[in-house]
Amino acid sequence: MTSNAIKLGIVGVGKIVRDQHLPAIAKDGNYQLIAAASRHGKVDGIANYPNIEAMLAAEPGLEAVSLCMPPQFRYDAARTALEAKKHVFLEKPPGATVSEVEHLKALAEKNGVSLFASWHSRYAPAVEAARAFLASTRLTSAAINWKEDVRRWHPNQEWIWEPGGFGVFDPGINALSIATHILPPMFITSAVLDFPENRSAPVAAHVAFRTSNGLPVTMELDWLQTGPQSWDILAETDKGKMVLSGGGAKLAVDGNIIHDEPEAEYPMLYKRFAEIVRAGASDVDLAPLQHVADAFMLGKRNVVEAFFD
Ligand code: NAP
Repeated sequence: MTSNAIKLGIVGVGKIVRDQHLPAIAKDGNYQLIAAASRHGKVDGIANYPNIEAMLAAEPGLEAVSLCMPPQFRYDAARTALEAKKHVFLEKPPGATVSEVEHLKALAEKNGVSLFASWHSRYAPAVEAARAFLASTRLTSAAINWKEDVRRWHPNQEWIWEPGGFGVFDPGINALSIATHILPPMFITSAVLDFPENRSAPVAAHVAFRTSNGLPVTMELDWLQTGPQSWDILAETDKGKMVLSGGGAKLAVDGNIIHDEPEAEYPMLYKRFAEIVRAGASDVDLAPLQHVADAFMLGKRNVVEAFFD
């Protein structure tokens, strides 16, 4: 740990905190994790509090917090932290609405602290290589195929099916965080969202975009994919067919693998957060969230078979 390590608290101790945040923080000398706040979850070896208000009151030395609860409950915690002049790391998606995150941006600026809207998939190993490849080619069309088994990845997560949980757009926004980083600006032209008759969020989505220069981009999201899972972005270009697969892990052009490295998304996110905290900056890109909002705004609702975990 460095002598000026950022004193960090973590809020909403659940799956992603255990799987990714705690291991990444433990290996990063930029941080000293001193407290956690969660109604049920606990982190061994540090002080634990039932909520963020209790944590902030008891730990005046805290400098930053990572907010990892579901998106519907993030705004109030973020506002409390920013008004207490703490730097804030937001898990993805950064909020349940675009305007609440806009307000958090303004609050961070007003209070002189950093706000980070993290998009972990943007830090997948082959994403920068895909961006560089596409910058050097002429794009003709692109297709996003994000198909996974919700029962395997999100078993019994009720919040994800509630309004503001985004349903299949919870993984889909990861695809959009990559697409908005590597493709030209694009806009939704039509969408069909499949809602199970007993749920408030979609289980599948079929979305068409056009880029600012008129090229077609499609996005197919499916949460009932059993067998092989696909998290792929395909692009037809004048230099061949690009396939960015494995959620951004592997890049191939015309079948030749040109980039394949082990993933280190969360270590990279924490490195970036320390960078912006030390630079006195914020990093809040709302483009992926805006596309999800647009899909819900423009999308036709199609009612499909009930879903049970
Ligand atoms: P989770 O385990 O269901 O939720 C995280 C924790 O948030 C829960 O354990 C719960 O802890 C707390 N929480 C739940 N409802 C709450 C409420 N109403 N008010 C306050 N706290 C509440 O979910 P997760 O999978 O970790 O996902 C959390 C966030 O990370 C989501 O935005 C998700 O999109 C993102 N994410 C998840 C994954 C993944 O693979 N799971 C990957 C990347 C990003 P307490 O009961 O102890 O309060």
